[in-house]
Amino acid sequence: MIFLGEQEEALKKYSEIILCWLNIKLQGRYSVANPTGYSCDKENCPVCSKKIQNRTDLCPDFIRILNDGKLSRIVSYKPGLLILFEGVIRTMYMNLGHSEEEFKEQCKKLFVKSGYEGFFYTNLNYKLAEWLDIHTCTYCNRQYTLVMRKPGGEKCMVPQFDHWLSKGEHPLLALSFYNLIPSCSICNSSIKSTVAMNLDEHLHPYVDRDISRSFKFDYIAISPSEYQVNCINLRMEDNKSENTLDILETKLLYKGHSKKELQDLIDLRYKYSENYLDILLNRTFNHLEVSKIDKYRLIFGVEIDEEQYHKRPFSKFKKDIIDKLISVTGKS
Ligand SMILES: [Zn+2]
Ligand SMILES: [Zn+2]
Repeated sequence: MIFLGEQEEALKKYSEIILCWLNIKLQGRYSVANPTGYSCDKENCPVCSKKIQNRTDLCPDFIRILNDGKLSRIVSYKPGLLILFEGVIRTMYMNLGHSEEEFKEQCKKLFVKSGYEGFFYTNLNYKLAEWLDIHTCTYCNRQYTLVMRKPGGEKCMVPQFDHWLSKGEHPLLALSFYNLIPSCSICNSSIKSTVAMNLDEHLHPYVDRDISRSFKFDYIAISPSEYQVNCINLRMEDNKSENTLDILETKLLYKGHSKKELQDLIDLRYKYSENYLDILLNRTFNHLEVSKIDKYRLIFGVEIDEEQYHKRPFSKFKKDIIDKLISVTGKS
């Protein structure tokens, strides 16, 4: 998993659009006939200038609770506060005589069905992915998640967005910025799916800054000529890293690269000369001023600065394996 940073600019752009949409869904658009309706002050707002209707099948209590300035907090709160705030809103709604099921039903209608599955997927997923500018899957760093449009601007490819807290269990948070994690389809749909995550037991890509230092890739010899990728937990204070690696199947996913990317690096170290890896890194660019970062990019196609890991697949994996290969003396 990769730390995604603060992403304040992306949050600002995302909030402007999603808040206009949510407010109109609750109150309707402002007009002479609907003076209590919503419209932001911006000229040509891509949402308020459109003929979007309010959602008429929501419970009046639910609308009243959300209308009181809570939408912006639901959209922009960081995960810890967000979970607490979800509890506050649920309690307020249930205190008016409604059940938890009714609360979920209301949230599902607005935030999941019309919001995430409707508006987000037709208007916002490409934009959010472009604003975030994360080039590989947050969870595995194996697959590119670039955003590409066809020459006419039509949609072509875009990352999926995983709900770190599942939208089934937490429908209120289906449009919350820090709950939308850009990822590949394998990690989102096949591996993580609807697994229940929580901040006490798992790492969060917007919370835990030291994710990259909480584990490292390694390898073990399973025969004299065969090696297998291994993953080592480095975080001793709790089980968050171990649990997260388990849920994301990081070891299994990378095991699939044992005979490919891992073997290539091991060959560079042992097959062709005493330590060809060392020659490549330390003697190839002898007379040129090439930085270490550039060398890794040119030779191995990876980034070695933690904040840039996302720009190339296998960055952390190759960096960790190369570090080990360079440091071992003789045949391991
Ligand atoms: Zn607007
Ligand atoms: Zn992935």
